[in-house]
Amino acid sequence: QEIDANKAISNIVSTFKLKVESYGGKIVSELNATDAIVEVDEMHFTNVIFNLLDNAVKYRRDDEPLMLKVTTADISGTRLEIRISDNGIGIKRDDLKKIFEKFYRVSTGNRHDVKGFGLGLAYVHKMVHELKGDIRVESELGIGTTFIIILPLT
Ligand code: ATP
Ligand code: MG
Repeated sequence: QEIDANKAISNIVSTFKLKVESYGGKIVSELNATDAIVEVDEMHFTNVIFNLLDNAVKYRRDDEPLMLKVTTADISGTRLEIRISDNGIGIKRDDLKKIFEKFYRVSTGNRHDVKGFGLGLAYVHKMVHELKGDIRVESELGIGTTFIIILPLT
């Protein structure tokens, strides 16, 4: 199935807008990829983006309004880069290596009031690789987190 990632992302972002704004936060998107046609199952693609946005909302900081940013760009006309950045609680270096594992949840310094199974990112990781893509994460504790997904363009 061929989908326009820009279109799919802007749909998901608009469904998240109210939720983010209800916490006094903001979500912005800069969908700059000129060609964003990717060969993916639309449902799985939506779930991947949804999971990352869901985490950004769950692991937001309490002392500052949530700022969420989603961007797309094309890399040398062959790959699509999707970045999802938040200004949330961030992830420690030691935990960063494990967050894509099934059932892994950060124990200390994290939001204990937030429920989850630790499955979201395991699903995201598996799905991105099944789509012949790649995912990486950059994070700083107390500053925020950025997930970067690379997918091959059709
Ligand atoms: P589930 O997604 O199954 O409901 P979960 O959110 O705990 O549960 P994952 O989505 O796999 O599980 O995330 C694993 C852990 O990584 C989380 O428990 C959280 O500690 C950390 N994490 C994930 N995304 C972020 C983020 N944007 N900011 C800070 N920590 C994060
Ligand atoms: Mg999650």
